[in-house]
Parts: sequence; structure tokens; C-alpha cells
Amino acid sequence: MELMNPDDILALLEGVPDIITPAVEARRRRFSDLKCPACGGNVRPEVTAEDLERLRADEVVPDGRARCDTCGCLFDPTTGLIAERGDIRRVIEPATHLLPKA
Ligand SMILES: [Zn+2]
Repeated sequence: MELMNPDDILALLEGVPDIITPAVEARRRRFSDLKCPACGGNVRPEVTAEDLERLRADEVVPDGRARCDTCGCLFDPTTGLIAERGDIRRVIEPATHLLPKA
């Protein structure tokens, strides 16, 4: 397979509205509001080849799943379903927000 010249690609895209940048920004904002369900840590999007295969026709950027930067937990950002448990021993501060209110 021969790859296209990047300059040729840019020439073809001249005048075409950019729908990718707003979609990426929207996803970044959505993920910045998410917290890990296990430890409350910050998360980032993680997209696998499987996520790309499941991309719907109306999606510009795949949602993928959310990976916790602290414990490594992997979960679905929409349903909260945990795909991979993280290692809670990697959490330095106790997750006091998960404790019942006194
Ligand atoms: Zn976590």
C-alpha cells in the first residue's frame, strides 16, 4: 500500500469544514469531567482497534473507554461499566470521597 503525500491530502481538504477538531475538543471536555469510579483519579480516553471497528456512521471520533491515570482502571465512559480493574495499591491518597457521609 502506498501512502498519500501529506501535501496532496492538505490540498484535497482545502475549503472542507473541519468537523474533527470540534469533536476532539468535545470529547476532551467530557473526559476532563470524568473521574475513576474506583479511586476518583483523573482519566484519559483510550481507543483500541476494536473501538475503531465499532465506530458508528454519525461518530467523527470514537469515544473509546476511559483509563484512570492513577490506578489504571479501564471503564466505559457512558455506562460506567468496568472493563479492567485497576491496581488500587497505586493510589497514594485515600479515596475519601467514596466513603459514606457521616
Ligand atoms: Zn482509578
